[in-house]
Amino acid sequence: MEKQTFTDYDQFVQDFKLNVPENYNFAFDFVDAVAQEDPHRPALVHLDPEKKRRDLDFAWLSERSSRLANSLAEQGIKKGDRVMLILFRRVEFWETMLALHKLGALPIPSPSLLTAKDIAERTEYANIKGLICENSITARVEEARTRGADFRVLVEVEGDTPPQGWSDYEELMQRGAPELPRPADAAGGNDPMIIFFTSGTTGMPKMVTHSHTYPLGHYTTAAYWHDLNPGGLHLTLSDTGWGKALWGKFYGQFLAGATVFVWDFRGKFDPAELLDVISEHKVTSFCAPPTVYRFLIREDLSQWDLSKLRHCNTAGELLNESVFTTWKQATGLPIYEGYGQTETCLQMATFPFMEPKPGSIGKPTPGWDIALLDESGAACPPGEEGEICIRLKQGNDPSDVLGLFQGYMDEPEKTASVMFDGYYHTGDKAWMDEDGYYWFLGRTDDLIKASGYRVGPFEVESALITHDAVVEAAVTGVPDPVRGQAVKATVVLGEDYEPSEGLTKSIQNHVKKVTAPYKYPRIVEYVDELPKTISGKIKRKEIRLRDLEKYGAKS
Ligand code: ATP
Ligand code: MG
Repeated sequence: MEKQTFTDYDQFVQDFKLNVPENYNFAFDFVDAVAQEDPHRPALVHLDPEKKRRDLDFAWLSERSSRLANSLAEQGIKKGDRVMLILFRRVEFWETMLALHKLGALPIPSPSLLTAKDIAERTEYANIKGLICENSITARVEEARTRGADFRVLVEVEGDTPPQGWSDYEELMQRGAPELPRPADAAGGNDPMIIFFTSGTTGMPKMVTHSHTYPLGHYTTAAYWHDLNPGGLHLTLSDTGWGKALWGKFYGQFLAGATVFVWDFRGKFDPAELLDVISEHKVTSFCAPPTVYRFLIREDLSQWDLSKLRHCNTAGELLNESVFTTWKQATGLPIYEGYGQTETCLQMATFPFMEPKPGSIGKPTPGWDIALLDESGAACPPGEEGEICIRLKQGNDPSDVLGLFQGYMDEPEKTASVMFDGYYHTGDKAWMDEDGYYWFLGRTDDLIKASGYRVGPFEVESALITHDAVVEAAVTGVPDPVRGQAVKATVVLGEDYEPSEGLTKSIQNHVKKVTAPYKYPRIVEYVDELPKTISGKIKRKEIRLRDLEKYGAKS
């Protein structure tokens, strides 16, 4: 794909063009096509958990995905079948995804934290036919089988002797023929391609279905927001069971000509180790959720050679202004923010040819016709808050918008509850300033009403983390007989600090000073860790539920 050059946002909106070929299938139309034209073009730079590096090209991905597809077809996997993947960040993840795209089967990438019970429930609920996992997960799947999970095909990666009823991944790979010409009835275009779980920040994760045109929707994510060009080496920090992996480790980056950098670390991320890896492997472009940056800036960044890094992004939660400023001072690089959902591609962002306004999620991506609607469904003027909605062209047909999901899997009612009156309703609130920049306010549920004032948790959290003692904070409302709700801060302290009354006072006074005094937290609770999703988002709802017993009525 030829990248167009833009010098300002208006030109981008006006002139950006993207061709959507008929019956598009990323595995055949892109990966196999590149493998034909330029077989040794680098695709992945991969570090295993021991940091052993492998460089893989498009010829590799094309052949391995064809072999596996041929074998899986022999095993009985066919178009439309759902296949659960628990593959961490192994190379097998990319191979399997492409193999299933070729077959028109639907991968359901899943996080490694799923329990046997989760696996059994999801298998039944989603009518899953096959499962491919690393050997470290096999025992859990076996337990799920005793709970009734019934798979037609089970494949183990890296096991010595897989249990009864399982196939060995490498054996399948060797058995499959290396070529798979595109069949006449190959899945493509608006056929379903993948099912992904949302993060589960507000409740049970929802299952989101995207079509075969979805990869093209991420061209803007990679080519413009990540500012990738051929030769770029991009690292997005994300588990492969989280939608963000598709935003930053797959389609868009390949389409933009860049190489995807993957580090399959296990367990919790270590900021210093991550900086070692970025520096040693000369990563040029980096994207991570704000929580990762919050930990990175606590290191002495001058200790690392980050000179190859030329572009940084964040999404998933709001970026605190103090984090933006500290990172920029240390590296010289602004952090370009983006906003979107598992249900969508990049809806809004600050692009390289725009001046970022720290704290703003930027402006709409071409192709996403954004409207802010008030409760009656009327459009909000600048300065007024409304729900972020995406205009659909014909009725409530999501296929009008390239990269918008087709619906929640097998749940037409849930889909209709967000796709109505000609709009997709995101459930997020924002306002737009006079320059057309959008400012994220939060999810409706997270907003606090205290003494008649509306308090957004994010603003208070951002004030809290500028106190020396505070590493992270989550702000919620608890029931208060006088005020309706009182602002509460749940705080993680830095290593050198201990909770005390004096410290609480100091934190409260600090917030009063840096933001409007009525927003200060009347209650401060100290914890070792905040409840988070696997993608690192703060689960404020969990804190609210926990507080119910302590503070009474539902907040
Ligand atoms: P669930 O839908 O299961 O509760 P989730 O909404 O967190 O989980 P995702 O699809 O991973 O699942 O996240 C999308 C949400 O993340 C958005 O709806 C928005 O609330 C939040 N978000 C994304 N980007 C930003 C951003 N730049 N600033 C603030 N919030 C963001
Ligand atoms: Mg959501």
